[in-house]
Amino acid sequence: NRRFVLAERPEGEPDDDTLRLETGDLPAPGKGQMLLRNEYLSLDPYMRGRMSDAPSYAKPVEIGEVMVGGTVSQVVRSDVDGFAEGDWVVAYGGWQDYALSDGRGVINLGTSPDNPSWALGVLGMPGLTAWAGLTQIGQPQAGETLVVAGASGPVGATVGQIGKILGLHVVGIAGGPEKNAHVVETLGFDACVDYKADGFPDALAAAVPDGIDIYFENVGGDVLDAVLPLLNTRARIPLCGLISQYNRTSLPNGPDRMNYLMGVILRKRMTVRGFIVLDDFGHLYPEFARQVGAWVKEGEIQYREEMIEGLEQAPSALVGLLNGEAFGKRVIHLTS
Ligand code: NDP
Repeated sequence: NRRFVLAERPEGEPDDDTLRLETGDLPAPGKGQMLLRNEYLSLDPYMRGRMSDAPSYAKPVEIGEVMVGGTVSQVVRSDVDGFAEGDWVVAYGGWQDYALSDGRGVINLGTSPDNPSWALGVLGMPGLTAWAGLTQIGQPQAGETLVVAGASGPVGATVGQIGKILGLHVVGIAGGPEKNAHVVETLGFDACVDYKADGFPDALAAAVPDGIDIYFENVGGDVLDAVLPLLNTRARIPLCGLISQYNRTSLPNGPDRMNYLMGVILRKRMTVRGFIVLDDFGHLYPEFARQVGAWVKEGEIQYREEMIEGLEQAPSALVGLLNGEAFGKRVIHLTS
């Protein structure tokens, strides 16, 4: 059993000393447990947060512990009701070949699911984040303008496509011409603006002639700065993520803009609501699975996945994900 444990807490970007690959015996399931063989490991931005012991909504991974991560796994042996050998499951199996589970929080996908790895993306946690953040906090009304940051990623791509289904004018924000083209041509957004190109704030303003009613925030930083002046009265901001800040060790220098931000919120009578998907919206999973599952099946929602072979690739693939190298949902295929 190969596994990555947290060797030290990173300062800024994780490096070669952050995680350590260990090899050990196969874990032995006890009473009320099952043994899982992890086939697919999800890479997600929140993993950077778990490496840190700064205050957060979830407890950090301890030094020497296996790195956390969502997995699609197959049951090898089971003493848990409702799970049998051969079942595919979605679990938090972590960065390792095999894991033990007592079945809590584990979803059974049956013995032959279509596209099992999609349960880590559009049909799983990122998809639920997109659907619930948009519908519950965004409160979309047909005809309104939705702007989505991180538009080519698993959350943003799903937000924008659901926005189109619900009759919104949808504008994405993504880095580079290839991702921008994908967002418009394949995902069907009305427009996409490149935040890395010169003149980004003006290009964004031109793409939203009626202003912005919903801003789905995934990134923060300069992108948020460009969005703020364009928000309409009673705009809603589902505050989902701030990925541009995750590797930062301190606040950026410069004038304190807190009172400007608070002034915009006040004058525009805006709703800004942060959420942690499983804590706040986990109970909506069945409705999400039914609704978004049907849209995916009918081809109304497109999904792009970037499959990377080999557990040993996971650390560098996570660093790349945080730097914008991923194009679609990054998943590690464990080939043990
Ligand atoms: P993504 O694939 O969208 O994340 C990677 C992307 O983030 C990159 O491709 C890049 O976009 C963008 N990015 C990175 N750095 C910057 C930067 N400095 N400025 C602008 N964009 C940047 O991941 P997910 O879809 O999985 O997650 C999207 C967001 O949602 C994240 O912030 C994540 O933390 C959050 N999230 C929150 C949850 C919750 O419960 N609140 C649950 C799940 C996710 P590009 O390639 O276009 O440059």
